[in-house]
Amino acid sequence: MNDLLEFDRAHLWHPYTSALKPLRAYPIAGAAGVRLRLADGRELIDGMSSWWCAIHGYNQPALNAALEKQLGNMAHVMFGGITHEPAVTLAKRLLDIVPRSLRHIFFCDSGSVSVEVAIKMALQYWQAAGRPRKKRLLTVRGGYHGDTFAAMSVCDPVTGMHHLFRGVLPKQLFAERPSCRFDAPFDPACLDDFRRLIVKHEGEVAAVILEPVVQGAGGMWFYHPAYLSGVRELCDCHQVLLILDEIATGFGRTGKLFACEWAGISPDILCLGKALTGGYLTLAATLATSKVAEGISSAGGVFMHGPTFMANPLACAAANANIDLLLCEDWPVKIRRIEEGLKAGLEPARSLAGVADVRGLGAIGVVEMKEAVDVEPFQAFCVDHGVWIRPFGRLVYLMPPYIIGGDDLGRLCEVMVAALQQAGA
Ligand SMILES: *Cc1c(COP(=O)(O)O)cnc(C)c1O
Repeated sequence: MNDLLEFDRAHLWHPYTSALKPLRAYPIAGAAGVRLRLADGRELIDGMSSWWCAIHGYNQPALNAALEKQLGNMAHVMFGGITHEPAVTLAKRLLDIVPRSLRHIFFCDSGSVSVEVAIKMALQYWQAAGRPRKKRLLTVRGGYHGDTFAAMSVCDPVTGMHHLFRGVLPKQLFAERPSCRFDAPFDPACLDDFRRLIVKHEGEVAAVILEPVVQGAGGMWFYHPAYLSGVRELCDCHQVLLILDEIATGFGRTGKLFACEWAGISPDILCLGKALTGGYLTLAATLATSKVAEGISSAGGVFMHGPTFMANPLACAAANANIDLLLCEDWPVKIRRIEEGLKAGLEPARSLAGVADVRGLGAIGVVEMKEAVDVEPFQAFCVDHGVWIRPFGRLVYLMPPYIIGGDDLGRLCEVMVAALQQAGA
């Protein structure tokens, strides 16, 4: 075991870490249900769903079986000039559940790539329409859309990576973060800055890109659905496409199957990823309306993207089993139970000295601290107490698998509050 950790420390890069002084990494030897098993045999209750993905937990029998079946048939074939049942079935399933106006699907490898694809669709759309000046993106502060270049350019300019890549990233337009809380009365004035920008730049803006209702890695912030409907109206008024990034929010996490349902609106382009395969394999999808697809393809146009592992059959098979599993159970009830459990369990954090805010929506519970949390001691405390939670910056949050039981959820909250008490002290 020490060999493994030593080699890892010396040679493996982990997310957002130094090669010379990496943060501690824990060896996980297996996982089942809501538990991760450490190499020394100790078990941890999973509070993260492996970054929004593992909604049905780990080692899920139906997902395992679907993958084994597909593996016995074929693991992969190119998608150029070839099609296959897992991809067509997945496309049908998705078109059944996403907003009705979305009719065309592009499968790609990861969330970030699906954002690149969405942006390319918007640019090609306006090029084909004879309006090539429309090539900038408008978004809001506090967003996160991935780590590739175009995706980075629309991440929050302060907490994102703009300072590292100044001069390389395209300069996009940023409105203020939607200030109206999800759980407070809507103040239409919170749209003013966005309106000002879209009016001023309408001739050069190709698309608006937003995470609907829940801003994830950019700040774990929940804003009012009326803001989103306002954005939809303004996009329509000013001939700007709307890209919704539901990579984190899709598949039930917020209490709706897709977060845009909170506002009753639909986008021109939609990005899905993360929970799409139930956390089994990397797969994402970019969906477009007929207007967008036909626009790009008018006058013989073709959409210029084609990843090697496009529509990988194994990943599609996992996604099909994942969606079947989700829809065959009463997922809204599970989410509501988790929402209530998180609200009750995290409430005691409100009175802690270091805490700035406590908020929750669907199966997401967030405690915002006044100061950044020291990750290593925080995680060590959690692991010693049998739970897996990974804070970032001032944010500590839970987004457990939907299958979590009441006792495990209570334990997650209890340990998180105790760890926050230690961290803030
Ligand atoms: C995680 C995430 C992405 C990027 O997805 P990857 O699969 O990590 O590339 C993009 N947008 C949102 C909202 C995300 O949460």
